[in-house]
Amino acid sequence: MSNHNKTLETTLVHAGRKSRYTQGSVNPVVQRASSLVFNTVADKKHATRNRYKGELFYGRRGTLTHFALQDAMCELEGGAGCYLYPCGAAAVTNAILAFVSQGDHILMTGAAYEPTQDFCNVILKNLGISTTYYDPMIGEGIRSLIQPKTKILFLESPSSLTLEVPDIPTLVRVAREINPEIVIMIDNTWAAGVLFPALEFGIDISIQAGTKYLVGHSDVMIGTAVSNARCWDQLRERSYLMGQMVDADSAYMTARGIRTLGIRLKEQEKSGITIANWLAQRPEVKAVYHPALPSCLGHEFFKRDFKGASGVFSFELYEKLTDEQLSNFLDHFKIFTMAYSWGGFESLILANQPEEIARIRPAIERKLTGTLIRLNIGLEAVEDLIADLEQGFARLK
Ligand SMILES: *Cc1c(COP(=O)(O)O)cnc(C)c1O
Repeated sequence: MSNHNKTLETTLVHAGRKSRYTQGSVNPVVQRASSLVFNTVADKKHATRNRYKGELFYGRRGTLTHFALQDAMCELEGGAGCYLYPCGAAAVTNAILAFVSQGDHILMTGAAYEPTQDFCNVILKNLGISTTYYDPMIGEGIRSLIQPKTKILFLESPSSLTLEVPDIPTLVRVAREINPEIVIMIDNTWAAGVLFPALEFGIDISIQAGTKYLVGHSDVMIGTAVSNARCWDQLRERSYLMGQMVDADSAYMTARGIRTLGIRLKEQEKSGITIANWLAQRPEVKAVYHPALPSCLGHEFFKRDFKGASGVFSFELYEKLTDEQLSNFLDHFKIFTMAYSWGGFESLILANQPEEIARIRPAIERKLTGTLIRLNIGLEAVEDLIADLEQGFARLK
């Protein structure tokens, strides 16, 4: 083996496939277990001492199947440890809960995934933990929002739905200047963890809804949080106290999804950019919000910081569609289907009205005027997807 760094594609194929986990097959074994059996008192002592260091202890600490996925995620995102959760929302909420107490304060992007905002507004509020939302494009301005009680700076890049890309190096530098101990977390779902190497940017914890790109086939829910060494013990032990875990089958399916992640992302990036450029030429379209296009806020930060794009983006129409126009447009696609979620192999389409976006954009002055359409570009042929969209636009006439 040469010792030069493996490329991402190669790492994705091989990460976590140790012989201890695969036991002679290509993929890790599916080890479904609550009880893990000790033959001797000495074995039990050894397992207890090493219960969070890859020894089989009790089902809630994981089995070989979980360890294989955790190892793979650490290799992919450069972490000291990876905790697994039953879904992305559980990863977000438990990572936050692991680092706050009553009276603390957190800084949350004002363009966060809506359930993340709801968690802050309901659960954290009830626990006496306050949230300040910031405009993700605030840059140096984050300085004035950091309080002595601020424990967490929470990032999401690009933003959900509107896809702004924040200047993360600036946000991280300013936060650390003021408080070196602050815990910085990112919802890194759009980049599948691998297109934006969060930990290399000084972020402590990279969270993903693995439900989306890692799984890639729209059939499993899982959340991952990869942590640096500084935050790992606390993240792991607090999440464990909260009873967070995932079944072996879901962990297996996620590790399986990772093997094709490289080629899926490449294809979805290529088709996504082709369709984004096509949309930018359409007379109905006011702006395309795709990080790889200059019309997206933070495009320059995307070019500087990201290794590539995934396949989710949005565009704003000049018009705010009526309910009837929305039904005409959305009900008759031949390929695109309507569903929450994204990151799967199938193309999806969803619409949001400007007032719905405004409601979930605390601290952001910018307002949309037209209907916002979000696309998840799947693995279908790009010309078929464009033809489908073209017929959709014809139905708006
Ligand atoms: C879907 C999603 C989540 C939540 O993931 P679930 O697995 O559905 O709980 C969190 N963050 C972002 C950005 C998402 O898109």
